Amino acid sequence: MDTTVEPSIRAMPFGTDFADRMSISFYANGAWSPTRIQPLAPLELHPGAHVLHYSSSCFEGLKAFRWADGTARLFRLERHVERMRQSARLLCLPVPSAELLTSMILELVAECTDAIPSPPGAMYLRPTLIGTETNIGAAGTGSAQACLYVLASPVGDYFAGGSRPLRILVEDHQARATPNFGMAKTGANYASGLRHVVDARARWNADQVLFCPGGDVQETGASNFMLIDDTEILTKRLDSSYLHGVTRDSILVLARELGYRVVERDFSVEELLERASVAEAALSGTAAVLAGVGTLVHRGQEYRVLDGEVGANTRKLRGTLTDIQFGHASDPRGWLRPS
Ligand SMILES: *Cc1c(COP(=O)(O)O)cnc(C)c1O
Repeated sequence: MDTTVEPSIRAMPFGTDFADRMSISFYANGAWSPTRIQPLAPLELHPGAHVLHYSSSCFEGLKAFRWADGTARLFRLERHVERMRQSARLLCLPVPSAELLTSMILELVAECTDAIPSPPGAMYLRPTLIGTETNIGAAGTGSAQACLYVLASPVGDYFAGGSRPLRILVEDHQARATPNFGMAKTGANYASGLRHVVDARARWNADQVLFCPGGDVQETGASNFMLIDDTEILTKRLDSSYLHGVTRDSILVLARELGYRVVERDFSVEELLERASVAEAALSGTAAVLAGVGTLVHRGQEYRVLDGEVGANTRKLRGTLTDIQFGHASDPRGWLRPS
């Protein structure tokens, strides 16, 4: 591990920088192999592997933080482990036990603690599960073999250089995922939404697409969506059409404690556009935490969200959460777990 440079002062683009170790386990004959920590290296995969043909894959994304005393803390590990197991079930993949997943993540973080950038950086962890059975005739059966591994990627401040308000295309026909599959954190859903995101960038210079099939405001390509004003947070109720974010849940818990009214219900594009002139809009997710939206584009028309800047409530809620993660505020809910 390169410890010659203080990790936090290296330039850290999101997602291309990796720790030099990974944890890995293989599923075959009905059992998982003992976890190994090994050097980060390419996987050997048969070209006929299930995942390469039938997209039997799912993943998680969570963060470990390095506190001032040099110890590491994982944010809401149990939630991420449970969601990964849920994704595995939806993809008919072998479901790793919570104990196996938890220990694979903890062991890797223990190995890489020194490589965790100090705040506002973090170590982004990417548990990944793929179907490795060699059988291109297995389109109608789950993969009987699988590989589970955890990558660690040091990340800097997502907002280094200032938090630019995002520009979002409101898409009211296309869905991101098929109904009921939105709860799976799987590459398949990213694949089905991708061309809409690429198209929105090319045609509207949009950062992301807010998927609102039939006018129902759901989520963007990789984040949950909320409207925030001085007294209330509005976000879609939990249903199977979209990914239930851990950040979404955390922000709602903190907002309630700060005295906001939290409203979880379905709402329409029409209501969204109407409210955008009086409320802040934000995307929530592990990587960006809470990112402000400055502009909505709908059917070729631009709508400024409030004054077009990242709102004060968005910044306050984001700071409340990151203060807990960095150990600058107490953690009475026990969200952080030492590695
Ligand atoms: C991961 C993800 C989110 C955010 O979930 P967090 O648990 O907050 O990181 C939202 N939407 C999609 C589609 C995702 O894949």
